[in-house]
Amino acid sequence: MTRKRWILILVICFSLLSSMIAAAAEGRFVKVIAYDVNIRSGASTEEGVIGHADYGDQFEVVTSENGWYQVQLGKGQSGWIHASLVKEGGRFATSNPVIDVAQSKVESLNVRGGASTSFEIVTTIQPGTTYPVLQQNADWVQIRLPDDRTGWVSKQYVTMSEGKAKPNAQAEQERATVLSDSVNIRADNSQSAPILGTLKLGDLVQVIEEGADWTKIDWQGKEAYVKAQYLKLPGKPSPVKDTLPPSNEQSDVTLTLQDATNLRSGPGTNFALLETGAAGASYPVTGKSGNWLEVTMKNGHTAWIAGWLPNVSGDLSKLPERGQSLDGVLHGKTIVLDAGHGGYDVGAVGRDTGVYEKDLTLSLTTLLANKLTSTGARVVLTRSDDTFVTLDDRVQISKREDCDIFVSLHFNTNANPNLSGTMTFYYNEDGKDHDLANRIQTQLVKNLGLPDLGTRFGDYYVLRENPRPAVLIETDFLTNSGDEQKAKDPNVQDKAAEAVFQALVDYLK
Ligand SMILES: [Zn+2]
Repeated sequence: MTRKRWILILVICFSLLSSMIAAAAEGRFVKVIAYDVNIRSGASTEEGVIGHADYGDQFEVVTSENGWYQVQLGKGQSGWIHASLVKEGGRFATSNPVIDVAQSKVESLNVRGGASTSFEIVTTIQPGTTYPVLQQNADWVQIRLPDDRTGWVSKQYVTMSEGKAKPNAQAEQERATVLSDSVNIRADNSQSAPILGTLKLGDLVQVIEEGADWTKIDWQGKEAYVKAQYLKLPGKPSPVKDTLPPSNEQSDVTLTLQDATNLRSGPGTNFALLETGAAGASYPVTGKSGNWLEVTMKNGHTAWIAGWLPNVSGDLSKLPERGQSLDGVLHGKTIVLDAGHGGYDVGAVGRDTGVYEKDLTLSLTTLLANKLTSTGARVVLTRSDDTFVTLDDRVQISKREDCDIFVSLHFNTNANPNLSGTMTFYYNEDGKDHDLANRIQTQLVKNLGLPDLGTRFGDYYVLRENPRPAVLIETDFLTNSGDEQKAKDPNVQDKAAEAVFQALVDYLK
């Protein structure tokens, strides 16, 4: 190599190097756009979680690859965040404003769907909790609510401040999760011991000692007790009664298909098609209804086959009768299905993959609608695509259709990523809503196999303002990794839709 060429290479290297240094000095930043985001040790969800970030946190970018950002955590440490959970930009404003309701001015403050008093009230908030600010104009400020919805409040009733306390990311790993609202903390391990305080769903407590009935916890530096059934200990399955595995009842009767045959969700041709069995396939028969036979599929779920189609071996007369045929139960019934969120209101954001609640509610709603319409029901959707529909418009559809049932479908969030499970909400304690919610909750827990967090009173607009029987389902938690995976799985979605379908049929029978 000639000397001239060496010099040329050196010059090129130097100019490359100096432009790299300039780029590094400028700095790239990302801002977190979801709650409880995992920071991992590598660029994959398989990598260990080394910390958490929250909405509005920002980090300097070290590098990015394959949909992940490596970010600076301080003290020379770095970690990886999935790209869907952050927004890249220049340096963002260094603090994240938050609002609190001004105690002296108002006891509870209306949160509205838009920036004027003509918009519907989404919820109300009380002093004592801060809410992150998303945007503002002269008189109104848009905030993010704990359930991940957004809303607007009038500036004259709030105080604004900078920044917020960050949750302690490390400690949450070793603490137990509270599985119910209003759980009493007692001074001793007895129901008659004095109550020191109460815990709510998703709270974290430090466990001192596990017991069969009572768990000893640390409560404000002192020993206290909580009923063990209300706590999920870290690394252990939920104590809440887990669902029964698919029935394993032995059957002496089996059937063999002569031709490809439809397996349906109920005893009638108007029930949803679950799968088509191949000629020659055999199934254990577990029950009958009229001319239809109930069988167990390979996945453990039950299905129905028209009794005149297969070859049957065994004594049909011994089979339990599953009650009257469901044909016609849904005929003439109007069911309004309300896929939560939509359009710019994405709803909750999945912890690991950043999946939007609005997309999951729409696919679940579509599956459920198919099952209902194929069984003869008239189904009206509040939205059938990715558009924004106000809460009031959703209720107006329920009123206009004078529907028999209104079902709002959602996925849940909680600040505690350990919290997993299914909940169903109703508004009218004494009306039919409670009964309907119980039926749906029972079927969902059975089909999804997630912790049963129960049915609850829920002060939701679509329930409160709704004159028709109405329930709101929180299928599972998108802030929990396992729940998020289930929520995205089409097979699990079908199980959830089937559960709600069965419950509606039971309710309308
Ligand atoms: Zn929702």
